[in-house]
Amino acid sequence: MSFSPVPAYSFDAVTDIRSAFLRDIGVTFLMLDLDNTLAPYGSDVPDERVVRWADTLRAGGIRLFIVSNSRRPGRTERVAGVLRVDYIKNARKPSPAGVIAAIRKAGGAPERSALAGDQIYTDTLAANRAGVTSILVRPIRLGNAFLAARYGLEAPFRAMAARRPAPARGGREIRR
Ligand SMILES: [Mg+2]
Repeated sequence: MSFSPVPAYSFDAVTDIRSAFLRDIGVTFLMLDLDNTLAPYGSDVPDERVVRWADTLRAGGIRLFIVSNSRRPGRTERVAGVLRVDYIKNARKPSPAGVIAAIRKAGGAPERSALAGDQIYTDTLAANRAGVTSILVRPIRLGNAFLAARYGLEAPFRAMAARRPAPARGGREIRR
């Protein structure tokens, strides 16, 4: 179990993660954070681009699964329904328990799994603790002072990401 707050890879948006990139790093099971990764807070409908991206990844052989900390009634179910993916809600990231439960539910393996999310202190930590590849994306929207402040606290670790050279296929490699 790693308590590192440094993500393995970083992308500007979840829709920048391609199936070819995931296959290159040996990942076939991609878990996804919901809030500010797939949809902004306050919206239960993912953007059309996100819906198309999910279809493209599926066509590329990647299995998708939502692992959300959201407790808003119906929210995770609605987004998962639109994207036609399985989900775990109230996952309590940075606990690795929800990530491990998702892998088990999907019949996956940690070494072939990744979690993409917008927050270092929940998503990246949960992924690293569960022993899956951590992928950091930028939040869709920093709609209030609290979110902006938290984003500021993550800056050192995001900066560590930016210093690494770019691999051949998309994304900036941060670790390994
Ligand atoms: Mg989030």
